[in-house]
Amino acid sequence: DFRCKTPISKRFTFCKINTMGSQTMFLKCNNITKLFGGLAALQDVSFEVEDGEIRGLIGPNGSGKTTLFNVISGVLKPTEGKVMFMERDITPLSPYNICHLGIARSFQIPHPFKEMTVWENVALGALFGKDQSFSDEEAKEKAKEIIDFVGLQVKDDTYPGELTAGGLRKLELARALATKPKLLLADEVLSGLSKKEMQEASMILKRIRDEMGITIIWVEHIMDVLMDVVDKVTVLNYGALIAEGTPEEVANNEEVVEAYLGKE
Ligand code: ADP
Ligand code: MG
Repeated sequence: DFRCKTPISKRFTFCKINTMGSQTMFLKCNNITKLFGGLAALQDVSFEVEDGEIRGLIGPNGSGKTTLFNVISGVLKPTEGKVMFMERDITPLSPYNICHLGIARSFQIPHPFKEMTVWENVALGALFGKDQSFSDEEAKEKAKEIIDFVGLQVKDDTYPGELTAGGLRKLELARALATKPKLLLADEVLSGLSKKEMQEASMILKRIRDEMGITIIWVEHIMDVLMDVVDKVTVLNYGALIAEGTPEEVANNEEVVEAYLGKE
């Protein structure tokens, strides 16, 4: 599949041709506001993500990153605004239907089914995902492929309780990938990991885009490792979008630096 596997840096010609015809935007958030009582967790946030991108979504703790993922994945309905995915308004859809359209997420706090083995947890994702023509055997095989892809070393009878923090993060990713998404929302995949595990996890995300052709929005509150991998960065602070650009542009943006230094 040419469209998916070509890295964004090499897709300039393709994009240019595309703009001549009707350009379709992969994901578009239009003026999203989410109020929790008097608190605006998101304030009039608009941004667009292109097919094939790895987008970083950063901001201090409490800036609205997870809330934005909840809105995109349909877990929360925005107070105002809408989410367009591949030209379709997905705002009114259930999380289940949004998953079937090809949006998967990994959660900030891993929550595997503890009474199921690791591979069963992943196979469940495959059965829940878009392609429902799987038999149980095929689901198991598919699950094992994905487990290998994310670099999880487990036996048939390994349970999630036996995994390290790094292993649980990989399982979260594997479960999301098993649904065969077009867009992966990855929430703080680095938290709780050692420096070495962080490097490994960021390389896995890069391979998910490069080899599987999956577009990624990657949330992290710390910037450094993420900045080496993402094409573009969007920055939230107190629920508002304060900056967007290349990693270099964002790292040198005064308002961004202030938001981070002011908090941490
Ligand atoms: P981040 O992921 O950037 O750390 P969140 O999106 O989790 O931030 O939270 C943004 C703000 O919204 C925080 O002030 C948080 O306390 C608040 N918030 C998040 N979810 C809820 C909820 N379900 N009910 C009330 N307040 C919430
Ligand atoms: Mg969060």
